[in-house]
Amino acid sequence: MDYQNILNTIHSDMNYRDVGGKVASYIPELAKIDPRKFGMHLYCGENRHYGFGDSEEKFSIQSISKVFTLCMAMNIMGEDLWDRVDVEPSGNPFNSLTQLEQENGIPRNPFINAGALVISDILVDHLKNPKEELLAFVRKITGDSDINYDNTVASSEKSTGFRNIALVNYMKALGNIKCEVEPIVDFYFHQCSLAMSCRQLAKAFMIFANKGRILETGEEIMRPEVVKRINALMQTCGFYDEAGEFSFEVGLPGKSGVGGGIVAIHPERYSVAVWSPILNEKGNSELGMKALERLTTLTGVSVF
Ligand code: GLU
Repeated sequence: MDYQNILNTIHSDMNYRDVGGKVASYIPELAKIDPRKFGMHLYCGENRHYGFGDSEEKFSIQSISKVFTLCMAMNIMGEDLWDRVDVEPSGNPFNSLTQLEQENGIPRNPFINAGALVISDILVDHLKNPKEELLAFVRKITGDSDINYDNTVASSEKSTGFRNIALVNYMKALGNIKCEVEPIVDFYFHQCSLAMSCRQLAKAFMIFANKGRILETGEEIMRPEVVKRINALMQTCGFYDEAGEFSFEVGLPGKSGVGGGIVAIHPERYSVAVWSPILNEKGNSELGMKALERLTTLTGVSVF
């Protein structure tokens, strides 16, 4: 497959003028991003990776980080994790509080904010230095030490993150949070502030296309049965209340973030990341979704 040629076609056929949404502004720091940014990178082997545009520029990965923290929590808790968080699509916005009361504080899935905050609680509870350990995990699977938190973005979200703070308090009242609220949200705001490029994200997500093994070293980070579960969750819950639409248009498991990034994988074939900060009304990168739709159409391959 001539991936570079396909990416070049996507790059020349599309740009930010094709979409009409807005850059996220509820986190003040994110509102400053240039809406014209557009990059894409695809990994399909150790030395086989292809990209275009701003694919080497770092951006705020936001909710994409929820996949990394889920891996760590599954490695710690195994199947017991599912007593604390469910595995159903929510059909509600990512920051919704509404389903929690009927469901006894058990979030619908680990990729909505409530679910990710339960995962944060678990990591804060079990790890000595959760922020350092998350950073080490992400650097290890990417094979790249040049990955860091963006403390300005983390503080910006902290100063406006009232819904997330409310979610933790509410779930604590309902009995599904063990630690204190402050360290949980501090960890969560930092994980969301991780700054990575499309190239780094595509490389990191190769573990989900490679049965849980790091591409270069072959080291097994997750058992294949854990990868199966995470890929299934990305397919059914990775795109807020637009997971059905993403499956319909693109046909790959993936995860998006309000920084405008999307990562998707084809199990055993490739991992691909795209970045364009303009979001549609559901909070997904508008151009990113279109670019991935073109990728699976032009290659003629999706998981379906
Ligand atoms: N830090 C963001 C929030 O909690 C993440 C949202 C997202 O990317 O979906 O609101």
